[in-house]
Amino acid sequence: MSSKVTSLNQKVKNVSGSSKDRGNWLQSFYAEGDSNAETCIIKGCGNLATAGGHLYHDYDITRVYIAPICDTCNHPSNTDWMEVKAHRLMMKR
Ligand SMILES: [Zn+2]
Repeated sequence: MSSKVTSLNQKVKNVSGSSKDRGNWLQSFYAEGDSNAETCIIKGCGNLATAGGHLYHDYDITRVYIAPICDTCNHPSNTDWMEVKAHRLMMKR
């Protein structure tokens, strides 16, 4: 089972080549009672989350985290570091 962390002001970056591991991550967030899971975790983005995205944190790029994210922010061509909204649930992969 994945362990949970709460987002602060870290930046995240998409993990490339993770699309085969989509699973049903969004359901896991709802199961944890995360009422924010319907919206994308990226700061400044108001889109609905469409998947649990695989993300690196800027302070620990050896570990992969999962968070609700929209198709635009999670697009493979997006290799930018992105700031996350604070106090959102993330899970360690
Ligand atoms: Zn987004």
